[in-house]
Amino acid sequence: MRVIDSHIHCGVQNVNQPFGQIAPLLKQADVHSACLFAPVEDIYYRYTDSFDDNEQWKACRRRAHDYLLELSRRENGIFAYYFVWNDFIVEDLDKPFAGIKWHHHAGEPSYHYSDPRCTEMTDAICRKNLPIVLEETFDRTLKFIEQISGRTPVIIPHLGLLNGGFERLHAAGVWEAANVYADTALAGIVEINTFLEKYGADRLIFGSDYPFGHPGSQLDRLRSMGIADSDLEKICAGNIMGLIRQ
Ligand SMILES: [Zn+2]
Repeated sequence: MRVIDSHIHCGVQNVNQPFGQIAPLLKQADVHSACLFAPVEDIYYRYTDSFDDNEQWKACRRRAHDYLLELSRRENGIFAYYFVWNDFIVEDLDKPFAGIKWHHHAGEPSYHYSDPRCTEMTDAICRKNLPIVLEETFDRTLKFIEQISGRTPVIIPHLGLLNGGFERLHAAGVWEAANVYADTALAGIVEINTFLEKYGADRLIFGSDYPFGHPGSQLDRLRSMGIADSDLEKICAGNIMGLIRQ
């Protein structure tokens, strides 16, 4: 069975998570492909909510993205994601990124949603039909999905653990939308089972959230849950392959 880890943080500037460290983990776990995001630490200074962007950070983001693009060119089955920040560089979407990462937790620097360039960016992402891995506060998650309005896939990591929680999103009807997907990274087995029961296997995606979770242990856990092979194939590869730009 082909397996893609759809959620891996890889970078060599403000953290030490080089691909050279990740490749053997994938190989040992029999994971054939991976979607790589830059670590948050290479995108902005996350330990404050009053972050001032500057040329050094812009250069850091550029290098973080170039590193992933270079890996995606060099390695088979490696997909680079673009991490959006408040400079909203629409032209960057013309580069061969497979998907989009969008990340903010409470207490960290916020996205400037009222900036017209933010709307331009989301509209451009929708036109290119790139999947967006969205980690945001509960309220922002709801607004964001409303703004996207079904135009492109939105993948909520950890089955919503850091977007307000699985149950809250469930109660708000978020999981019902046909363009909303969830990844299994570090999610609870109860939540994974509930999602499968209620929504089936077509919108669930395997990911480990390396370095916070490991590809091998996250995959073993999924494999030990008694999920039908045909569903497991979708979760482990089929679903994400249908979403990313290749
Ligand atoms: Zn992550």
